[in-house]
Amino acid sequence: MRLAIAEINLTALAHNLAQVKQCAPQSKVMAVLKANAYGHGLVKIAQYLNDADAFAVARIDEALALRAGGLTKPIVLLEGVFDKDDWAILLANNFQTIIHDDNQLSALENAQLDTPIACWLKINTGMHRLGIAPSQFEDFYQRLQNSKNARNDIKLMTHFSSADDIQDTKTTEQIRLFNSLVVGKPQAHCLANSAAIIAWPAGHGDWVRPGLMLYGVSPMLNAIGQQHQLRPVMRLMTKVIAIRDVDSNQCVGYGGRWCSDKATKLAVVAMGYGDGYPRHAKQGTPVIIKGQRFGIVGSVSMDMITVDIGSNGAGIVVGDSVIMWGPELPVEEIAQCAATIPYELLCNITPRVSYEYVE
Ligand SMILES: *Cc1c(COP(=O)(O)O)cnc(C)c1O
Repeated sequence: MRLAIAEINLTALAHNLAQVKQCAPQSKVMAVLKANAYGHGLVKIAQYLNDADAFAVARIDEALALRAGGLTKPIVLLEGVFDKDDWAILLANNFQTIIHDDNQLSALENAQLDTPIACWLKINTGMHRLGIAPSQFEDFYQRLQNSKNARNDIKLMTHFSSADDIQDTKTTEQIRLFNSLVVGKPQAHCLANSAAIIAWPAGHGDWVRPGLMLYGVSPMLNAIGQQHQLRPVMRLMTKVIAIRDVDSNQCVGYGGRWCSDKATKLAVVAMGYGDGYPRHAKQGTPVIIKGQRFGIVGSVSMDMITVDIGSNGAGIVVGDSVIMWGPELPVEEIAQCAATIPYELLCNITPRVSYEYVE
């Protein structure tokens, strides 16, 4: 019997990609597959995204894993190239690269290449993480145009810091700054992450870069209850492995962090931080057993969690399925209970969890 299972719904994935296209009908789609496709399984997810125009990853090994899996679409390296030996890998595998600073541009200019590489020039418009300063843009643009190592169809990109907050005027400022720099340049523009695809149509540009929304999760602040017609792709499940009675005033689990105030029954559930469930999930974080919500009690341990199922036990027996998050229980809600964001919970799924792909 398999205990911890991440069930991945590929029909929901296809639906979410269609939803991206409905939100940004004029834009091509670069599907963001970094961090094992946000914990959903890199190659499997990529194989099911036939309608995407390109893939994006953070690390060259992720790109190589896609090629090894037989994927042939263009792949963009979102952080660019860090080692001069990597240029040959890019050419051999038809990878495209971001250029985000002078080190990377100089390395490209000085590389000995037989064929030019497709480049995306990244401008910092306010995120202040990667990207050239607006004042450097014209110079970098000309250097790329003049380099025999860069393909002519240079693309121009930026990244938003606060698109998840529809009240924040920062996104409008970033769009305005980007547009003022690239005005008159014929190149394709690429700005929007999931939140901007949903909330900032002025930032859609020629290419969009959805990550989280492909997996059916809301990227917005105050996301709970706002699904934006997305369908959650992952259902994280496990089983009840024991049921026990506790008396009043018994303290449960490591550190005795929760003590019963009356006699009750606990379901012991095979899921813990060793599977990627957040150890800091607060008392009462919901799970679903037999269609009903119950709250976790006591510390989350490596392999187990205890759930208060009430004094009558709600008809729950050993072997019953437990849903930790999924279509019935938004991961956005569990993230809030653990004082984190759904991105982190999804990426944190560990290799001990078995994946089952369903259509
Ligand atoms: C991760 C990432 C994205 C995707 O962000 P989501 O919020 O998951 O849509 C887009 N662009 C860049 C540069 C990224 O690093």
